[in-house]
Amino acid sequence: MSAAPELAERYAAVTAGIAEACAAAGRAPEEITLVVVTKFHPAQLIRELVELGARHVGENRHQDAAPKAAELADLPLTWHFVGQLQSNKAKAVARYADVIHSVDRASLVTALAGAERAVDVFLEVNLTDDPGRGGVAPSEVERLAEQVLATERLRLRGVMGVAPLDEDARSAFARLRAIGERVRTIAPHATDLSAGMSGDYAEAIAEGATHLRIGTAITGKRPAPH
Ligand SMILES: *Cc1c(COP(=O)(O)O)cnc(C)c1O
Repeated sequence: MSAAPELAERYAAVTAGIAEACAAAGRAPEEITLVVVTKFHPAQLIRELVELGARHVGENRHQDAAPKAAELADLPLTWHFVGQLQSNKAKAVARYADVIHSVDRASLVTALAGAERAVDVFLEVNLTDDPGRGGVAPSEVERLAEQVLATERLRLRGVMGVAPLDEDARSAFARLRAIGERVRTIAPHATDLSAGMSGDYAEAIAEGATHLRIGTAITGKRPAPH
């Protein structure tokens, strides 16, 4: 079965948008990993995305992601976990997730230390003024990075952030980029930057994003969560 025409059109529009934003920023599109966020969508949609060329998918809930990853084990996919992660589910997520973008606290790093295989991680930074939001406070990032570096199972890739709704995305991503540069002083290999969603990926590319997490611009409207 081939992919629905609207899906193909949206996928093409986003890849063209990425190429355009890269050209404007003087960057090569090969520097960018496009993670298609498929949360709430059925496994079949992911099969269609793979036909269109997608190789990275992102999910945000373990109970949805685990069965999809099992069902699609035949596909050439890298699985990214982008949602808030409870420590008691960390080991289970690490069985199928190759990359976890939402490491934001010491207890989660401790839980992931018991993973059965190596996992790549991003430190999620809280870019809002609300300490109740997900993400480590900017002032705590180095401490968390040190803990990840001391954990054998984990490979630190860089930092991740979501632009606050009440701030210009470009300035939020510039702050994230600067935090990533601080992390690089203690972890020179942690050069990746996970930033940019459907509405702000061009701004993220302008600020050096290497991993875009794009959902609705490609998948269309999400079905209601069940
Ligand atoms: C859902 C989600 C995305 C994708 O959002 P869109 O606006 O649909 O592109 C990206 N990152 C995270 C952490 C998400 O939960």
